[in-house]
Amino acid sequence: MRTKLIIAVVSLSLGLFGGAKLMEHLGREYIVNNFPIPSGTLDDKDVFVKEVVINEKVPVKKLKQVKKKAKNIILFIGDGMSVSQVSAFRLYQGGPNSRVAVDKFPYSGKVLIHSANAIVTDSASSTTAFSTGKKTNNRALGVDVGGQPTENITETLDKSGYVSSVISTSEVTHATPAAFVVHTSSRYLTDEISIQMADSKIINILGGGRKFFIPEKDGGNRKDGINLIEKVKTKSRLITDKSELSDPARYGDSQVFGLFADEHLRDDDTPENHSTEPSIEEMLEFSVNRSKKFIENGCKGFFIMAEASQVDWAGHSNDFEYLMREMSDLEDGIKWALNFAENNQDTLVVVTADHETGGLLIEPNDPRNYENLDVKFSFNTGIGRGSHTGAPVPIYAYGPGSENFTGTLDNTDVYRALLAAANQDNSGSCVN
Ligand SMILES: [Zn+2]
Repeated sequence: MRTKLIIAVVSLSLGLFGGAKLMEHLGREYIVNNFPIPSGTLDDKDVFVKEVVINEKVPVKKLKQVKKKAKNIILFIGDGMSVSQVSAFRLYQGGPNSRVAVDKFPYSGKVLIHSANAIVTDSASSTTAFSTGKKTNNRALGVDVGGQPTENITETLDKSGYVSSVISTSEVTHATPAAFVVHTSSRYLTDEISIQMADSKIINILGGGRKFFIPEKDGGNRKDGINLIEKVKTKSRLITDKSELSDPARYGDSQVFGLFADEHLRDDDTPENHSTEPSIEEMLEFSVNRSKKFIENGCKGFFIMAEASQVDWAGHSNDFEYLMREMSDLEDGIKWALNFAENNQDTLVVVTADHETGGLLIEPNDPRNYENLDVKFSFNTGIGRGSHTGAPVPIYAYGPGSENFTGTLDNTDVYRALLAAANQDNSGSCVN
């Protein structure tokens, strides 16, 4: 050991070139076994590329014609969820040979998620691509690169008698649910977003975000002074406790706003509120049962978007336990939907993500020893503040039209594949 130490010291004193030569001579195994694991970021592992070219047209995937159409569509978005998050959840909940709900889906593919002006997208632009089939700039919601509103999938399906719901575990005004409902130049215009949501034909808008409906002077977040929660109470039906989800029939054909928390659900700052906040599964079951009532009264089918919003936030905060909690909530929702689709062979279920967050890696616990079952989960973007990454995300599909969700898709293809599955008969809206 002492000899090796002397060699190392001598090698360093020989300067960079001589040292490198000596290291080469000693071999990789010696280096791996005798040098400490770097504790921080190594600058020289990063490569910086300026101005990646994205001026070519987005290739349009050729889709198969769907003969048996989907009466209903349930779309899950795990915000910030790529293959690493799914794999980590599989390992965490039952080991490498266990299977999670998405593993049971017969079709899967991968989605490229860049936006019109960035290699690394945000939730707003990527979800706008899912909802409108058009690439837009980061931060934009339901508008194209020129800022013009583009029809979204809930508006298109409304013309064919579908009823739509949006579910999230964030504020309902957050980027992903909003991208399926509103048209604004920026995701941060939450006063405008909430007004457009209240004016929309979406029958169930469920999640958190009461504060975004209440003026600042009354303890809310609204800068425009409008007390939107009063308007929601008269025009729509407001529910704030998950017990109110038990009887979907009692709301008639009114729009239902479920605002179960001041901000997001399961907020660490408000533990006293958690017992009245629903899971994704509970919000989904309510939305499906309520949609069925509309179908009994003449509507043709339903579209539901359910977002596991905080998978992304767990990646941003580099918090693995938080990530697993949110993946588990999503898992229960997917299981419920899959069971529903298995029993009703007319429902397409799609699970995907808008982007990856946190650069999650699954590594050996000790890089000097792979041959054991110890594993290290680590986030690999900015320490303490993970960012989105440009990695593609997985997509999984079950049910009518699922054959189009294979291979490589652009996020705009996801919109086209969803519509290819839907029964677009242009029979007219069934919502007042
Ligand atoms: Zn996102």
